[in-house]
Amino acid sequence: MFRALRLDETDGRITASIAEVDDNALPEGDVTVAVDYSTLNYKDGMIVNGLGKLVRTYPHIPGIDLAGTVEESSNPRFKPGDKVLLTGWHVGERHWGGYAERARVKAEWLTPIPEGMSTFDAMAVGTAGFTAMLAILALEEHGLRTDSGDVLVTGASGGVGSVAIAILANCGYRPVALTGRTSEADYLTGLGAVEIVARESFLEGDPRPLEAERWAGSVDAVGGAVLSRVLSQLRYGCSVAAVGLAGGPKLETTVMPFLLRGVNLLGIDSVQCPAERREKAWARIARDLPMDKLRAMTHTAPLGDVPRLANAILKGEVRGRMVIDVR
Ligand code: NDP
Repeated sequence: MFRALRLDETDGRITASIAEVDDNALPEGDVTVAVDYSTLNYKDGMIVNGLGKLVRTYPHIPGIDLAGTVEESSNPRFKPGDKVLLTGWHVGERHWGGYAERARVKAEWLTPIPEGMSTFDAMAVGTAGFTAMLAILALEEHGLRTDSGDVLVTGASGGVGSVAIAILANCGYRPVALTGRTSEADYLTGLGAVEIVARESFLEGDPRPLEAERWAGSVDAVGGAVLSRVLSQLRYGCSVAAVGLAGGPKLETTVMPFLLRGVNLLGIDSVQCPAERREKAWARIARDLPMDKLRAMTHTAPLGDVPRLANAILKGEVRGRMVIDVR
C-alpha cells in the first residue's frame, strides 16, 4: 500500500482526499519510482479542481511532476537506486502522477537528474522551470543575444516567470518583469529583474497593431491581451515565446507585426518535448539557474495542502515555485 492524493468523481463533482492505495492498482509501466517530491503547477490547479477536461477517468492520482528513486525497472536504461525526474507526457492527467509515494511509469518518460542536483532541486524547477528554459532556448535559437536589449517576462511572479527571470539574469540578459502584483517588486528584483512593469499600465489605452518597438524578446506565461500587446511592441526581427494562458487562451492581433517587423511567435510545449531536447534543457538549468535563487523562490508543502493550494494557484496567489513533499 502507498499514500496518495486521490481524486474521485461523484455526479460530475471532483473531490480530493488522502488515501491508502494498493500497489496492484498502479498503472502499467516498466519503471516503479519511490517518489520524494512532486510540485504544484497551474495545470495541477486545473486538474485538482476538475477543470479543462484534462483527466479522463477516475479515481485518479494527479501531480504532473515527480522526482525520486527507481525501485524496480524492467528497462535496461534504469536500475534500482537511480535518481530520476518526470515532467509532462500527460502524467498526472491521463496517467497516474506524482502526488503519491509510488508511481509506475514508462522508462521513456523519465529523465536522469543532472549531476549535483537533488530530487528536491529538480522539483523546485519542475514543469514550470523546465518550460521557462525551453522558452529561453527557443529565443536564443531565434537570435536573442545578451546585448540584444530588454526581455519581457510576463506572469513574472509565477513559477515560469520567476525561473525565467533568474536564468535570464544569470546568463547576462536584461529581464523586465511584467506583473499584476507590484507588491512583489523586491522579490522580482532579487531574482534579477532590471525593471518592473505593472500589468495594469502595460494594458492601458487602446491597443494598436504596431506600437513603439521595445522588446528584444519575451517569455509570455499570460497569453490573451498581454501577448497581443507584446507582439505589437517587439523590436524588428525579435521573438516572443508563448508559454501560457494564465490571462486567457484567446489571442486577438493583426498580421502587421509579422509582415512589417518580421517578428516571430514561438510555441512552447513541455509535455511532448522529445527526450534529447529535455536533456539539453536540464543540462542548461543545472548550469545557468543559480541554486540560491531557486531556493529563494521555492516553498514546500505537504500532500494534504494540495487542494487548498490548487485553488490559490488558479487565482494567481502562489508566488514562485511550490514543491510538494509526498513522503
Ligand atoms: P503560476 O500560476 O505560477 O504563474 C502564472 C502567473 O501569471 C501568476 O503568478 C500571475 O503573475 C500571472 N497571472 C495570473 N492570473 C492572471 C490573469 N488573470 N491575467 C494576467 N496574468 C495573470 O503558473 P505557472 O508559472 O505554473 O504557469 C504559467 C502558465 O504557463 C500557465 O498558463 C500554464 O498553464 C502554462 N504552462 C505551459 C506549459 C507548456 O508546456 N506550454 C508548461 C508550464 C506552464 P503576476 O502576479 O506576476 O502577474
